[in-house]
Amino acid sequence: MDNAFDAFAKELNAGYPGTAVFYGEPMRKHTTFRVGGTVSLFAEPKSLEAFVWAVRELRRRELPGLIVGNGSNLLFSDRPHALAVLSTARLDTLRLSGDSLISGAGVLLSRLASAALEACLTGLEFAHGIPGSLGGGIYMNAGAYGGELRDVVEAVTYLDNGGSLRTVPCAECDFGYRHSRFENTGEAILSATLRLRPGDPREIREKMDDLSRRRREKQPLNLPSAGSTFKRPQGDFAARLIEAAGLKGLSVGGAQVSEKHAGFIVNTGGATAGDILALMDKVREQVYLTSGVTLEPEVRIID
Ligand SMILES: Cc1cc2nc3c(=O)[nH]c(=O)nc-3n(C[C@H](O)[C@H](O)[C@H](O)COP(=O)(O)OP(=O)(O)OC[C@H]3O[C@@H](n4cnc5c(N)ncnc54)[C@H](O)[C@@H]3O)c2cc1C
Repeated sequence: MDNAFDAFAKELNAGYPGTAVFYGEPMRKHTTFRVGGTVSLFAEPKSLEAFVWAVRELRRRELPGLIVGNGSNLLFSDRPHALAVLSTARLDTLRLSGDSLISGAGVLLSRLASAALEACLTGLEFAHGIPGSLGGGIYMNAGAYGGELRDVVEAVTYLDNGGSLRTVPCAECDFGYRHSRFENTGEAILSATLRLRPGDPREIREKMDDLSRRRREKQPLNLPSAGSTFKRPQGDFAARLIEAAGLKGLSVGGAQVSEKHAGFIVNTGGATAGDILALMDKVREQVYLTSGVTLEPEVRIID
């Protein structure tokens, strides 16, 4: 298998010189939880063409691959993974067209929100503090404080599983609560058009500042995490149920249910993915015993 990844990487670099490729790369370097084992190959294709080539080629060679944006919703287990990870970091073009932003999948949501402010466009304030990329945000239909990406996505361009480029309108993205079609299909999101509205820059700035302040007050932003560990159950909040079960501060190794926000599991230093997964199991069990609710992970686990 290692030879197959090597052959793929060599061809990627020959076709697209300057593409960064790392063998046996620890995923703790690329995820906000700062845990996780190595992957056979980690590549950052240097352009959209290189990225498209790499996705098509992995499929043609039947090699296991995974796309990673900013790694802020991913938990890789501690073992070595026979996997080629493709980063979208260089899918970073961003341009303004009327009231729309046309953006590569690798552009960070914070950069998009700032670009919207600069262009006096409203609608993306909610996304300012979400530490993900546009692609990861669309995949999850990321949202906060009453806004979600589906509110602003006009169209998404992706590479389908047959290797063809396609563009679909928002209505065909099957957006739901922390869900999109891309979770089911595994199609590679390349770029999207976000439709915004003209707004008053002072009001946009005030809203962004207010949401940042609320995040800083409520969330343990000083410690590595993947944000909310569990999805919001129907009619309730994961954090409320976890706190009601008396689990705030509960630890396994270096993983802890945050003292500041029970919805977050944090890495207090030296946590392994195994610690985090064991703590998640404990939390799920205790919450089920005390409230009858089964919590579903929001963070995507790569076992
Ligand atoms: C401190 C903190 C606060 C957070 N607050 C919020 C919040 O308020 N609201 C919220 O919704 N989330 C929040 N999150 C979680 C996370 O930031 C979001 O889910 C974000 O959208 C993930 O984007 P990413 O680029 O990091 O995706 P990644 O973690 O890199 O990937 C997540 C999933 O998307 C897939 N993916 C990524 N890019 C692509 C692509 N181009 N094509 C196809 N698939 C792709 C990956 O394969 C993976 O399955 C928070 C996380 C942290 C650490």
